[in-house]
Amino acid sequence: RALEIANMVKICCIGAGYVGGPTMAVIALKCPSIEVVVVDISASRIAAWNGDQLPIYEPGLDDVVKQCRGKNLFFSTNVEVHVAEADIIFVSVNTPTKTRGLGAGKAADLTYWESAARMIADVSRSDKIVVEKSTVPVKTAEAIEKILTHNSKGVNYQILSNPEFLAEGTAIQDLFTPDRVLIGGRETPEGRRAVQTLKDVYAHWVPEDRILTTNLWSAELSKLAANAFLAQRISSVNAISALCEATGANVSEVAFAVGKDSRIGPKFLNASVGFGGSCFQKDILNLVYICECNGLPEVANYWRQVIKINDYQKSRFVNRVVSSMFNTVSGKKIAVLGFAFKKDTGDTRETPAIDVCKGLLGDKASISIYDPQVTEEQIRRDLAMNKFDWDHPAHLQPTSPAAVKQVSVTWDAYAAAKGAHGVCILTEWDEFRELDYQMIYDNMQKPAFVFDGRNVVDAEKLRAIGFIVYSIGKPLDS
Ligand code: NAD
Repeated sequence: RALEIANMVKICCIGAGYVGGPTMAVIALKCPSIEVVVVDISASRIAAWNGDQLPIYEPGLDDVVKQCRGKNLFFSTNVEVHVAEADIIFVSVNTPTKTRGLGAGKAADLTYWESAARMIADVSRSDKIVVEKSTVPVKTAEAIEKILTHNSKGVNYQILSNPEFLAEGTAIQDLFTPDRVLIGGRETPEGRRAVQTLKDVYAHWVPEDRILTTNLWSAELSKLAANAFLAQRISSVNAISALCEATGANVSEVAFAVGKDSRIGPKFLNASVGFGGSCFQKDILNLVYICECNGLPEVANYWRQVIKINDYQKSRFVNRVVSSMFNTVSGKKIAVLGFAFKKDTGDTRETPAIDVCKGLLGDKASISIYDPQVTEEQIRRDLAMNKFDWDHPAHLQPTSPAAVKQVSVTWDAYAAAKGAHGVCILTEWDEFRELDYQMIYDNMQKPAFVFDGRNVVDAEKLRAIGFIVYSIGKPLDS
């Protein structure tokens, strides 16, 4: 067995997060002849990957990890040792929005990437293929190449861009059957060889016609463009939802009719309280910054509007809650069902629930939150955090400590709604479709309101019980 392992291609992935963990677990599962080590500077994260309770919730992930952990999949904090031994190094560190200095509020913060690159150069004694897995600004490969080659200890580096298109909540399914795998590389003989090496890894399970190869810059930009297009679709349908409410049209009917056009298609057309997650806003801001830096202010403004509509949708929702409840929620209890940014994940990064809760707390509501996968600690941390307002950097306001006291976190939806004046549904968890709404109604203050930010409940059924119901983009109760 020792000899077998000695002859394996070795992959090391720097960053054991939402992307690094699942992608490497699937590579290990599909390529038994490859040794995969995922490293991270966070000891607690690595301990969780090595334990029974994985650090992220993702359907199917436990099963994949259990099948290969300890065989050809390893998690370690021994970053430098495993980087030095690897043939292919994926870098999947976080690339958040810069919060200070040049480009603050827009540009990607490449601190983690740069320190990973410097460490690779420091410890490498054999040739490496370095793969950009993180989402990075176009031309990052050029910067990485500079850092690596100027610090090289006689080592040859090939940089590839292999952006990840998985969506949280469906990551394993997306990795098993990706729409496409994109690999960008240098158009030199060495570059082409490196591209082929990575293609060979994916070819273990991805059909050849789904593996696309491009130049480096196209691959880097495609990831930003794909996220911008996806977010734009949500903002488009959300913009229409506002018009539906004003006119009596029904956004579900409009989206269905629009999506029937084969040029548009039916997917990703659900109106909601707004998009969240760590990527859409960050990547669009990044795109806006790149456009500005390249002297394209009109293009920058076009994409900036996608985020503005998203912010507008969240504040429109809060305003609807407050205005429906007789223009004040002061001293009223509001149940918030769902805090994650979408179902089937415990991730709360940039979740619209943060803005909605902050808005309600700002009007002095007391709120009671339930989410099946989000911990109380996460919720309190998110609500206490400064939110960077890129349009008004002077208005950095965390929720005040007094307001945070008005938040309670419960372990089921019924406890959250008990004694409440209103219920806000902010994540489309399946269980919220199946709740006993009669029981919830019986235990609420009257009139009892439901504000459905994900259009998951049957509004007519709830109205028959006695609720006053607001659904995004649907005709309103009189
Ligand atoms: P994450 O924050 O969950 O994970 C990043 C990990 O990198 C952290 O655990 C951190 O400790 C580690 N790290 C940072 N610097 C390190 C270093 N020098 N050495 C070792 N470890 C280091 O982030 P994520 O959600 O996995 O995203 C990673 C990248 O992938 C981002 O660029 C993101 O935009 C992109 N992406 C994310 C998704 C998604 O759905 N989350 C999808 C596609 C692409």
